[in-house]
Amino acid sequence: MRFETIAIHGSEKPDPTTGALITPIYQTSTFAFEDVGKTRGYDYSRTSNPTRKVLEETIARLEGGKAGFAFATGMAAEATAIYLLKAGDHVISGDDIYGGTYRLFQDVMTNFGLEFTFLRLNNRREIEDAIRPNTRMIWIETPSNPLLNITDVEMVVDIARKHNLLTMADNTFPTPCFLRPIEYGVDLVVHSTTKYLNGHCDVVGGAIVTATDDLTQKVQFLLNALGTCASPFDCWLVLRGIKTLPLRVKQHAMSAAAVASFLEKHPRVSRVFYPGLKSHPGHEIAARQMDGFGGMVSFEINGEVNSFLRGVELFILAESLGGANSLVEHPATMSHASMPKEFREKVGIFDNLVRLSVGLENIEDIIEDLEQALAK
Ligand SMILES: *Cc1c(COP(=O)(O)O)cnc(C)c1O
Repeated sequence: MRFETIAIHGSEKPDPTTGALITPIYQTSTFAFEDVGKTRGYDYSRTSNPTRKVLEETIARLEGGKAGFAFATGMAAEATAIYLLKAGDHVISGDDIYGGTYRLFQDVMTNFGLEFTFLRLNNRREIEDAIRPNTRMIWIETPSNPLLNITDVEMVVDIARKHNLLTMADNTFPTPCFLRPIEYGVDLVVHSTTKYLNGHCDVVGGAIVTATDDLTQKVQFLLNALGTCASPFDCWLVLRGIKTLPLRVKQHAMSAAAVASFLEKHPRVSRVFYPGLKSHPGHEIAARQMDGFGGMVSFEINGEVNSFLRGVELFILAESLGGANSLVEHPATMSHASMPKEFREKVGIFDNLVRLSVGLENIEDIIEDLEQALAK
């Protein structure tokens, strides 16, 4: 089966008891044992649930991994993954990562003895120089959030393998439709399914996909031990969203490319960040490792940002991304407010930066809205 077919059929089969085409929402906490010491495959929904299972297998197949796990949120997935490490371990992470990931690492996990180095992951020597005797993991986010920097996944995996380090890729932005990190040798993929995978702004969820049996066992153990799993209803919604993922993200990417070239020519815009643009420093790597450039566009406004943020009518000022609705957000006061200003500016996230999640509305309506708001 090819990607679009897996997205629809995944591991979903008509329900064995009723023939229901679509996997039912198994809204149950517990399951009757068949006999003493014998289950029908499920005993308690924290450990495993049939609706969740179908979603997990579908995401695993889309990513080309061994197994998938569905979590309550993207952050629940990340928090679970970080428990693969222990006090004293060191992680090298991309620097302009999702603000919540930075907060989890810097403001929570450092209290438990983990150490972090935040680094632009685009230079082999700099990455190798950052490796310490206690380094255990490299955390990749490409394209990054909000600057859409591109990391050469193959290069990072090569370094990691030489030094026996785990690699973890946050694949929320590209989705497996455009990038499958496991094909390049990444050990674990993490998702906020809240975004493109669900795609309708009506659920929060997360996922992990593992590349080896050993990691599968460890993540299954942690999910059950920590209780970070997703609810059956949320899994059902994400499963429903995934059926149209390939169609949706292709349209998101087409419209984002049109928005990026419109912005690049606009006199009130000083810089546009979109990996599909030839001017983007990561363009060549992105073109080689990805099947599309995604639906996110960031740009810097010459002068007043607030008049633009207040001026948009179709775009809605809101956190999050990846849904049918076009959204605009201001990283400095919203998604990346948890990063201290000096760190933010060091990585290149300035107060005049705006991030767009280009939605599925008519492209002319999208551009007209940007045009009228930029004129204000
Ligand atoms: C949103 C997001 C997360 C966190 O996911 P939640 O579902 O909001 O917990 C992590 N990484 C990236 C890249 C995100 O965009």
